[in-house]
Amino acid sequence: MSTLAEYRSREHWSYSAINQFVNICSLQFFFDRIAKLPKAFTPLSLSFGSAYHRALEWVHLTRKEGAIPKAVEIRDLFADIWGRQLEEDRDIRFDEGEDAESCRARGMDMVAVYVEQIDPEERVVSVNEAFAVPLVDSAGNVLDKPLVGELDLVVDNNGVTISDMKTSARRWPKGQADKSLQPTAYLYAYELLHGVEVPFRFEVVVKNKTPVVEHHVTERTTDQFHRMVELVKVAESMIAAEHFLPSEQGFYCAGCPHQTACGAWHRERATTSVSMAA
Ligand code: SF4
Repeated sequence: MSTLAEYRSREHWSYSAINQFVNICSLQFFFDRIAKLPKAFTPLSLSFGSAYHRALEWVHLTRKEGAIPKAVEIRDLFADIWGRQLEEDRDIRFDEGEDAESCRARGMDMVAVYVEQIDPEERVVSVNEAFAVPLVDSAGNVLDKPLVGELDLVVDNNGVTISDMKTSARRWPKGQADKSLQPTAYLYAYELLHGVEVPFRFEVVVKNKTPVVEHHVTERTTDQFHRMVELVKVAESMIAAEHFLPSEQGFYCAGCPHQTACGAWHRERATTSVSMAA
């Protein structure tokens, strides 16, 4: 089986690329993935999420070997990982009222509450399972680029479930898991690879003063898989036509590392359009 890095070495789609284009901002997609502009800063959500996932990856691997780590172990591990993350991402932009120390303390509490709620009956089937599958529409047409990704955690507890870990500033509203594109992409891949329909579970640790863990289970139909492939087809036609638009009414601008390029986008574009017409 190839690694995620090997799968990523050829042109592909990922859940995060599709989601960025369709649901976040197509102009941010352009700056990140086509123009490949350097990021003006590292959003806190990226650095914190990366440290959190690295810590939980160790939890999953330990569980796979038959043990559940103690809360004190994972607290210490998060503190170490967060220290390294601060070194790697020197340009982190902290949210108002946050700093490196408050994030360290909160992260330690969050990983501890995560391990304390693990069901000892649940068996870990796989950790970091990389995949590359063709994107096929309802008429059987295969797109040029495959869908590539990695399943963080697959568990079995009277049935297989794909699990994904999230952090959130607030409790998830009802229906959020059902609308997310991530289960659609991952369950599509799992069904192609394993030939079975399984559910998807978000394990969300809410960053309250005392963190809490929520489980949100969702499923997908073949019709939803076909809808995702149509989204990709439209995205590809828009990319080919260079149709990238700012999405200034969403939540994502405050944490966007391309705000300066975005502010100049219409002026650059007007200049380019005039010179191309001349
Ligand atoms: S600042 Fe907002 S509109 Fe502009 S590229 Fe970033 S996310 Fe898109």
